[in-house]
Amino acid sequence: MTESTQPAAELDRARAGDTRSLARLLSLVENESPQVRIVVKDLMQNTGTARVIGLTGAPGVGKSTVTGALVGAFRSLEDGGYRVAVLAVDPSSPFTGGALLGDRIRMQAHATDDHVFIRSMANRGQLGGLAAATPQAIRVLDAAGFDLILVETVGVGQDEVDIASLADSVIVLVAPGMGDAIQAAKAGILEVADLFVVNKADKPDSHQVVRDLRGMIALAERKEGSWKPPIVSTVAVNGARDDGIAELVTRLDAHWSWLNSTGELQRRRHARAREEITALIFAALRHRLAASNVDELAGRVADGTLNPFDAAEELIAEHVTSR
Ligand code: GDP
Repeated sequence: MTESTQPAAELDRARAGDTRSLARLLSLVENESPQVRIVVKDLMQNTGTARVIGLTGAPGVGKSTVTGALVGAFRSLEDGGYRVAVLAVDPSSPFTGGALLGDRIRMQAHATDDHVFIRSMANRGQLGGLAAATPQAIRVLDAAGFDLILVETVGVGQDEVDIASLADSVIVLVAPGMGDAIQAAKAGILEVADLFVVNKADKPDSHQVVRDLRGMIALAERKEGSWKPPIVSTVAVNGARDDGIAELVTRLDAHWSWLNSTGELQRRRHARAREEITALIFAALRHRLAASNVDELAGRVADGTLNPFDAAEELIAEHVTSR
């Protein structure tokens, strides 16, 4: 990095609204650059104020359309609206740098709004790389002064669930006419849902989807005083008179108030920080293990001349407790 692209200077420019600096910082994160460590160190003091909303669900349920509608709703609030960032994360796609979302017509309504920043991130590095990079990308956007960060994940695998659960409020979307919508949503995302959206409520069988969801929520065990996820029906495509988006915003605000008034927000953020530290420790250990004499020890365990406990002890003594 040259003088003018020092992370601190980039961050200052990003905070002042320079989207190219912001995009460069996010590229560092996406590429898992060693510079990320410096960037994150510099920006920590400016983080913690953004509200993070995650959206997940099977491809085609309408995540991008609902995200676009939410951007519009949060931008047009009476008090001048939030500065909104959208991060579209696709763990399965090698494409990146805005290509995914940049072309999407439904987002173009916001393309000329200085207070809206849209960015997609795809998986370039190793498996799980995005799950590690996404919290840092959220931090960068938070430090750059966005009040609201919408994190949209594409797909329904474990990675997407992990990414969605980085948010303060998690929206799980389902839609009728997509096979068994609930079944598709079952892959671990029902537990992380704070709100359910049944999108495409203009379709005839959407009531059945709502009924099925309601039944499932009723069956779930819930602790006293815990949040009961509401179900909001939406018609996110343009032109619907009662599209449900205003109700979704109301429910999101209610969840945000609940998070703040119960201390749950701090608990969640604490738990997430813990996960993050643990993930970094494992990554560092894997790194050191790869550079260690593990193969030589493995050979001795395999041929019966060493037991695995002593092998593990030896590696810990050499590569973990000392540096
Ligand atoms: P994603 O893959 O989950 O991001 O889904 P998209 O937002 O790309 O939407 C998939 C398709 O469903 C697009 O053709 C949208 O126009 C359409 N769609 C989105 N919301 C609605 C809705 O409320 N009703 C109907 N009928 N179609 C919708």
